[in-house]
Amino acid sequence: MQVLKFGGTSVGSADNIKRVISIVQERLEKDTTIVVVSAMGGATDALLNSGLMAAAGNEQYKEALQHIEQRHLETVKLLIPVQHQSHVLSLVKKLCNDIEDICNGIFLLGEFSARTRDRMISYGELISSRIIAATFNNSGTAAAWKDARTLIQTNDNFGNATVNGPVTRRRIADYIASCKEALVVMPGFIAADANNETTTLGRGGSDYTAAIMAAATDAACLEIWTDVPGMMTADPRWVSGAKVISSISYQEAMELSHFGAKVLYPPTIQPVLRKAIPVVIKNTFAPGDAGTVIQQKAFSNGNSIRGISSISNIALFSLEGSGMVGVPGFSRRLFEALSAAQINVILITQGSSEHSICVGVEASAIHKAKAVVDTEFEHEIAIEKVQPLLVETALSIVALVGENMKSHPGISGKMFGALGRNGVNVRAIAQGSSERNISAVVATKDVRKAINILHEEFFETTRKEIHLFIAGTGNVGSILLQQLQQQQDWLAKHLRLNVRVTGLANSRKMIIDDNGIDFHNWQEKLQGGEDADIEAFVNIIIGKNFRNAIFVDMTASDTVAKVYDRLLQKSVSVVACNKVAASSSYDYYRKLKDLARTYNCLYLFETNVGAALPVIGTLNDLLRSGDKINRIEAVLSGTLNFVFNHYNGQVSFAEVVKQAQDEGYTEPDPRLDLSGTDVMRKILILARESGEQLEMEDITCNGFLPESCMQGDVNAFYEELKKHEPHFKKLYSNAAAANSKLKFVATFEQGKAVAGLEHIPPQHDLYHLYGKDNVVLFYTGRYPVQPLVIKGAGAGAEVTASGVFADIIRATAS
Ligand code: ADP
Ligand code: ASP
Ligand code: MG
Repeated sequence: MQVLKFGGTSVGSADNIKRVISIVQERLEKDTTIVVVSAMGGATDALLNSGLMAAAGNEQYKEALQHIEQRHLETVKLLIPVQHQSHVLSLVKKLCNDIEDICNGIFLLGEFSARTRDRMISYGELISSRIIAATFNNSGTAAAWKDARTLIQTNDNFGNATVNGPVTRRRIADYIASCKEALVVMPGFIAADANNETTTLGRGGSDYTAAIMAAATDAACLEIWTDVPGMMTADPRWVSGAKVISSISYQEAMELSHFGAKVLYPPTIQPVLRKAIPVVIKNTFAPGDAGTVIQQKAFSNGNSIRGISSISNIALFSLEGSGMVGVPGFSRRLFEALSAAQINVILITQGSSEHSICVGVEASAIHKAKAVVDTEFEHEIAIEKVQPLLVETALSIVALVGENMKSHPGISGKMFGALGRNGVNVRAIAQGSSERNISAVVATKDVRKAINILHEEFFETTRKEIHLFIAGTGNVGSILLQQLQQQQDWLAKHLRLNVRVTGLANSRKMIIDDNGIDFHNWQEKLQGGEDADIEAFVNIIIGKNFRNAIFVDMTASDTVAKVYDRLLQKSVSVVACNKVAASSSYDYYRKLKDLARTYNCLYLFETNVGAALPVIGTLNDLLRSGDKINRIEAVLSGTLNFVFNHYNGQVSFAEVVKQAQDEGYTEPDPRLDLSGTDVMRKILILARESGEQLEMEDITCNGFLPESCMQGDVNAFYEELKKHEPHFKKLYSNAAAANSKLKFVATFEQGKAVAGLEHIPPQHDLYHLYGKDNVVLFYTGRYPVQPLVIKGAGAGAEVTASGVFADIIRATAS
């Protein structure tokens, strides 16, 4: 004996039914094969909607019924040769007439009772099973059609009836004993109560019908044929990297289906579990694939988690009050009240303080739940021992399922850590004592994100999807894009990261593409984008609510620097080569750092000082390990270093500055570098990172640029520089006379920061510094005399982009 069940999509069209026929024909054996079928995909809903329309007095139900009839008649015509069609066609027609009669009745009475509803929706399976049985008979395979209502007896709980096991088992045994056919086709989902009234086993109930048949006939195997390759690590509609679970235990399968894995109707496992009948989930559209085997003991997959599922439309209520502490009977009264009102409890948590009990129920039941519980505790509420029920809606449950969780510590830590880092707020947590399941209640708007985060966290073969939102596509920004493109494969292979640029903006245009902007033609795409608006860009980032989202600021803009706080508050990490934020008011700098900590994300700005040189990272490492900063001495302007290294009085100072600008070593306005402002910002950031609460105004800057150079635009500035050539020549010759070089040095010591031009003699650590290099000397408790030295190119688009790249990768690990 074997039982095969085919779901809605598998029998959803003539072509699909043909697949079903050949799958069954290949599997026929001497022993009887029972084929249980669903309604054609969507038919149950269509019937239900027609009934609802009729009940609402909407005459369009007639049209809807016509569609249902048409669909089935056409399917017959496509499956059965013309000369043999008439019998099946008239049968289908008759069943459709019955549906119409029922619907007309509903329309006249304006009432759609649970009983009528069951009768109405039973026709989906009644018709499909008739068509499929007839198709077998016309394809050379004799098949008997059996009405499930004559076998499966239930109580009269319409909508979700409970099976009367002993009667059902006896009837099935009798039937099988007398059955001569090698193949029986029967409708799933439907049954009848003791009065022969049609009932149903609940939505998705055909799986259950098949399991009842398998258990009652001691079948060797139950095969559930569906439209996915098996039971998967997560719902494949939501998680693109979901994988087939090849082996899973009954308990795990039950847990996953209870928590929303629709591929298997939850009650299905019970009957087969008792008889230890293996269940195989197979794909009708790839019959050769192995699918999922559900049995007593599953094979290890090397992972403590088997799958992730979710239930939406959940509401939570909390019963709270001092009157509950230590008083027995509160929970009994609560749950008895719920049970009497037939409210299904999905999740329960109770704090050890016993001060509150939190219960998750289906959202549709929450009003009723509140009413019955408030009534039950009316007295306690009146004397203020208990508060009226607190209710929260628009929630979902996400559940991790796996038998091996109990022997692996740290799973909930990993789970909640990952959710927290991505800004998913957890409203309630439950872990069954079986430790087979950890559930978290989250806002429904976060559920898809949460499942994807957890899937990435627990199924290591999947890649982590990183969503970058980049502002600024100038020199450094476009090189970053090049570097990202170039490293794509490497990141995927070695770090399991799928880094995509989901949003891109410059000062003119912006674009968003959920699937990632093509690296090859981003310029063109951006040009065709919307007009840029940084606030709108941020709104989109927040609205998209992507996991692993990182905002990358490649601009030098004040406006862009102002949006970081909004992003960090939504757990979007910020990586900036823009120094404005970190060097703006101390309050804003502090706020950003605190927000990053509170919302479990990162605010990284390593390139603010010395481009890709590991200056801030090293400083942080020193402090974290308990070192003390005595003094920082640094040449922090690649531009100024370039300028003073090249200027020797031969070529004019203005020309050397121009060369630095042309080679990309200056800020767009070179005065930011020459005036020392840029260096001040950098030493300010280092001072702040050292723990000093400093503002820009607290820094002493001994500038060398004549006042007049600061007026006008950049062109005017160059003109002024030319005029002041003798001033620069003098600066140079004075230094040369002292056998020294000119260096623009920044120092931080004892809470004070100073920047200015200095004469550096040959024996000084800062002397040998070439090109656009930067150098930072850290004199610390552990490096008191010989400083820790960081030296190398401190400006330039390539290195700056690579420093940002490194910060991005750091942020992905958060
Ligand atoms: P059928 O009509 O064959 O009974 P269902 O629609 O009831 O099919 O169930 C199959 C669907 O279940 C799949 O199309 C898939 O979208 C959904 N699903 C949800 N969670 C899972 C999961 N963990 N594994 C596989 N499918 C799942
Ligand atoms: N046709 C029913 C439903 O859609 C039962 C099933 O397909 O399993 O719920
Ligand atoms: Mg189903």
